[in-house]
Amino acid sequence: MQDHLIQATAADSTIRLIAAVSTELVSEACRRHGTSPTASAALGRALTGALLLGRTFKDLEYVTLRFDCKGPIGGIVAEASAHGTVRGYVRNPLADVPLNVMGKLDVGGVVGEGMLHVIREAGYEIGLMKEPYFGSVPIVSGEIAEDLTHYLAVSEQINSAVSLGVFVESEGASVSASGGYMIQVMPGVDEEVMASIEKTISAAPHITELIRKGGDAEGLLQVAMGDIQFDVLETHSIEFRCKCSYERAVSIVTALGNEEVADMLEKDKGAELTCHFCSSVYYLDEAALRDILEPPDPPVM
Ligand code: ZN
Repeated sequence: MQDHLIQATAADSTIRLIAAVSTELVSEACRRHGTSPTASAALGRALTGALLLGRTFKDLEYVTLRFDCKGPIGGIVAEASAHGTVRGYVRNPLADVPLNVMGKLDVGGVVGEGMLHVIREAGYEIGLMKEPYFGSVPIVSGEIAEDLTHYLAVSEQINSAVSLGVFVESEGASVSASGGYMIQVMPGVDEEVMASIEKTISAAPHITELIRKGGDAEGLLQVAMGDIQFDVLETHSIEFRCKCSYERAVSIVTALGNEEVADMLEKDKGAELTCHFCSSVYYLDEAALRDILEPPDPPVM
């Protein structure tokens, strides 16, 4: 099934729902970064969480989740755009910890204590240059979904239920299911409806179980909502995509200054840059470095 995200509404618009199946994009991210099984689960949950959270802000261009944490993973960064693209990385991709007492990947253990920072950017690409919004909360469990729920309650004053899951096969360590949902409650919601949803969610099967059986984003919401009807408003495609390019690599090297570039040319006869977000490698050869030192004349018009 192709990765997708849906937005829905229920109970006279007092409940906002967002759900996604992100198996392909999380697989790609984990393949690119060569993550351990537990790091794959942590990165996958953060990438999906960023996509879900990004959909809740109006006029958003980018939302970044940054986990600055003391656990073996060292840190997680996930950046989603309003167009449904996401990229991200973990600081120590090979970090791993034993399974937890329930026999599951111990994401909370690999993340550990620290802070979750949420950065929202809007208006840059259309020239409004609004100041980015920063929100920070302590990491509560490192399980990612719980941390996002806590962030929404404390920083945005939104009560929500967030569920995120990544299934990593024990053989071959490939990601075979990933997804999640976010149910946000607006002021004026019926208490009975709330209680009913909470009860349904607590008894619902794990989301990766549903996705592995072929469930889509709407199916995830059906299981979470039980008897409560909802209307799907929009469906979007989502994908792993980075903003890096050869041109950006050239501008980064250029920004180092002539002295540094001349040094690279003399010692290494080139420069190699690896993108943190996607592990793509860019190689600037001798000619490219010379062009930076002595830009070719612009064409005569
Ligand atoms: Zn990149």
